[in-house]
Amino acid sequence: MRIDKFLADTGHGSRKEVKKLLKAGLVYIDDVLVKDAKAQVNASDQQVVVAGSVVHYQADVYIMLNKPQGVISATEDSMHKTVIDLLDKKWSAFKIFPIGRLDKDTEGLLLLTTDGAFSHRLMSPRRHVSKVYQATIDGVVTDEDVEAFRIGVHLEDGYLTKPAELNIIKSAQTSLIELTITEGKFHQVKRMFKARDKTVLSLKRTSIGKLTLDESLPLGSYRELTEQELMLFE
Ligand code: URA
Repeated sequence: MRIDKFLADTGHGSRKEVKKLLKAGLVYIDDVLVKDAKAQVNASDQQVVVAGSVVHYQADVYIMLNKPQGVISATEDSMHKTVIDLLDKKWSAFKIFPIGRLDKDTEGLLLLTTDGAFSHRLMSPRRHVSKVYQATIDGVVTDEDVEAFRIGVHLEDGYLTKPAELNIIKSAQTSLIELTITEGKFHQVKRMFKARDKTVLSLKRTSIGKLTLDESLPLGSYRELTEQELMLFE
């Protein structure tokens, strides 16, 4: 990774501040003075010294999981298999948790991380991070449903949902839709359709913000996010 990322990740300030540290001649990689922010460092086998102190890199972990049905979005559960149980043994040393929740019977994109601040940012209602879901619906989804979701529907507890974009992919006895919402109330998609007297038969999340599920990941599989994907959330 780049030395400026290494330093920013280890609490030495923003990338700008880190550049200053480098310019000031305070950073060494394996005893070699480094001033270039783009210089590469291998965090696992090179030693970085900043202002005379060795810096240990404990990278946060960011994982994209294609969640299958039947597992719950929790770190532990006495009855059910959790999304953490899907991870390889090598990850057990990390305190990984899911960012938000998908229902047990919902599939698709779920992010897992060790980074509490990152999770907080994604979940914050103030940020309105969009989420895209694909669903099959029992019943004919109509333009009236599209309009109702655009304006907002009242859930059974009286909550008025924020404007949401409903695209009808196929309207039939069993319809196929794509829905974009910017909030994450409990069972939100199912309850929105319930407010329109319709039932969600299957549900899959395909995007969070600008990040889209890697469709080459089979259900139950996962991979780390790339640096470019992580930057989509900056
Ligand atoms: N909305 C739901 O109803 N369920 C989910 O799992 C996610 C969004």
